[in-house]
Amino acid sequence: MIDAPALRARLDEVRGRIARAALRVGRDPAGVRLIAVSKTFGAEHVRAAAEAGQRDFGENKVQEALDKMDRTGDLDLAWHLIGHLQSNKARKAGARFSVVHSVDDADLVRRLNEAAGAAGRTLQILVQADLAGEATKHGAPEAALDGIFAAAAAAGHLDPIGLMLIPPSVDDPERARPYFRALRAVRDQLLARGVPPGRLRELSMGMSHDFEVAVEEGATMVRVGTAIFGSRGRP
Ligand SMILES: *Cc1c(COP(=O)(O)O)cnc(C)c1O
Repeated sequence: MIDAPALRARLDEVRGRIARAALRVGRDPAGVRLIAVSKTFGAEHVRAAAEAGQRDFGENKVQEALDKMDRTGDLDLAWHLIGHLQSNKARKAGARFSVVHSVDDADLVRRLNEAAGAAGRTLQILVQADLAGEATKHGAPEAALDGIFAAAAAAGHLDPIGLMLIPPSVDDPERARPYFRALRAVRDQLLARGVPPGRLRELSMGMSHDFEVAVEEGATMVRVGTAIFGSRGRP
């Protein structure tokens, strides 16, 4: 059973914290989109959040997400793929998600473009940057970003709208701040090098433990799971 009033209260609290963080730095709270990360939770959790006014949902596994989309097809929701995308899943993902946040190489650009084209749609994408130089993690190194944006913009069925970041995991949210700041600086450098502003309007950064810091540093999309739906437990 879902405790819908409690879920609504947690959503309201997260929204309030986002708004206060935005106002602290003179930003309009309406400029931050909350993406409720529903991974591992069921369609009924999505439904309860939707009843509380939530429209954007994030998932990190393609098949799990497609199942939830099918079971909430009567609702007008926007689904965001936030996790690493294996190339053999690109076809399904490109046909169904509204936004893919985790594009980090030219091969994915090509596959997602084909998938979106085959489905007769345009897919919004964010380019995931790896600014910590963590070779074991996903994300494109800074030097590869221009090329990925150019490829995506030229592809025909993709609409690149910004950058996404997952900082190294740290206990103190303040230690994530330099990474959020760095992503904003990378955005500004890409703008200065002539990437059109419309392709860089979104910064997807910040999770349950650090979204307020991310908003202070310019996040336009925050991906929040635990603080809304509760703990996912351990596999
Ligand atoms: C799971 C996940 C989140 C949400 O994490 P929480 O700590 O539960 O808020 C955000 N972004 C990505 C990429 C994730 O995989």
